[in-house]
Amino acid sequence: MAEMFYEDDADLSVIQGRKVAIIGYGSQGHAHALNLRDSGVQVVVGLRDGSSSAAKAKAEGLTVLSVADAVKQSDVVMILAPDQVQRGLYESEIQPNLKSGDALFFAHGFNIRFGYITAPEGVDVAMVAPKGPGHLVRREYVDGRGVPVLVAVEVDASGKAWDLAISYAAAIGGLRAGGIKTTFTEETETDLFGEQAVLCGGTSQLVMYGFEVLTEAGYQPEVAYFECLHELKLIVDLMIEGGIAKQRWSISDTAEFGDYVSGPRVIDPHVKENMKTILAEIKDGTFAKHFIDDQDAGAPEFKALRDKGAQHPIEKTGKELRGLMSWIKDTDSDYTEGSA
Ligand code: NAD
Ligand code: MG
Ligand code: MG
Ligand code: MG
Ligand code: MG
Ligand code: MG
Repeated sequence: MAEMFYEDDADLSVIQGRKVAIIGYGSQGHAHALNLRDSGVQVVVGLRDGSSSAAKAKAEGLTVLSVADAVKQSDVVMILAPDQVQRGLYESEIQPNLKSGDALFFAHGFNIRFGYITAPEGVDVAMVAPKGPGHLVRREYVDGRGVPVLVAVEVDASGKAWDLAISYAAAIGGLRAGGIKTTFTEETETDLFGEQAVLCGGTSQLVMYGFEVLTEAGYQPEVAYFECLHELKLIVDLMIEGGIAKQRWSISDTAEFGDYVSGPRVIDPHVKENMKTILAEIKDGTFAKHFIDDQDAGAPEFKALRDKGAQHPIEKTGKELRGLMSWIKDTDSDYTEGSA
């Protein structure tokens, strides 16, 4: 059984007694900075010169500094810049300003696990990784709830890194939902696998194939959109409430029988073999190298794939239909349709 912990297991005063620099003010960055501040923690935000995020952070009353100055003024540094820029940012602005006794925090273990970042001696290295998108980390906190977190300590230089990490986890609201103790290796490998095989890659492709098969057979794209994309949330909500069993309980017997006889034919054992290959390429660093090499070259493959994805016919149909469903509000003010 995993080691789980909740708010009562953490001492909020530990992080309240430190100064935290949040590096980056994107999806996770804004959520951590605002949740920490609202939990009574001293926070500054570190951004590169000319960052478009600076105005948003200042509008919230947060202090915005250069990355170097934010690191100098703080003793806990949470790196929430994109994974692919962390190595360069770390070498030029973070590491030179770290001192013994500081703590270096991550929300994903990528750069430590694959060796792109190594902390200097005397510095704690820990992870507080919310298991949900940053915008929900903020929204849930404001609503008195939280997004569950994975917590790990890679280097315990102070001998107190764990207490610091769970205190931070409590301050962002994560321990309201629950924390699980893990390692950088387990978090990194399972996170990459989950997003590639199931949550993002697998689900996106499944939805697109379903939409393609129906529209290519001559069915209306609007009907295909509702069937293959919109209804997915309703089905997944039932899984969250009561597992796959509750989903099967709620659907018709016809749908349930179709689930049993057709599911394993669509997602056949070959898919499981493909998933094992994906996991192997994550573990041996092939995926990390592929991603970082492309990013270092200016991300030509990444940009081409993003453009191709945006051209899929399901996006056009979806945009029209969502415009007609007034209750589907886009509450994330910095999201524009078509950006990723
Ligand atoms: P993001 O892309 O939303 O935001 C990154 C922010 O970093 C930008 O808004 C900007 O303020 C800053 N930034 C961008 N480029 C920079 C540069 N070159 N130099 C300095 N600062 C720069 O990032 P994110 O999705 O919040 O990811 C941050 C970390 O959190 C990553 O390690 C990621 O794996 C992890 N994580 C993200 C999520 C999520 O919900 N997106 C969930 C769990 C963990
Ligand atoms: Mg994840
Ligand atoms: Mg991830
Ligand atoms: Mg149906
Ligand atoms: Mg039923
Ligand atoms: Mg993105």
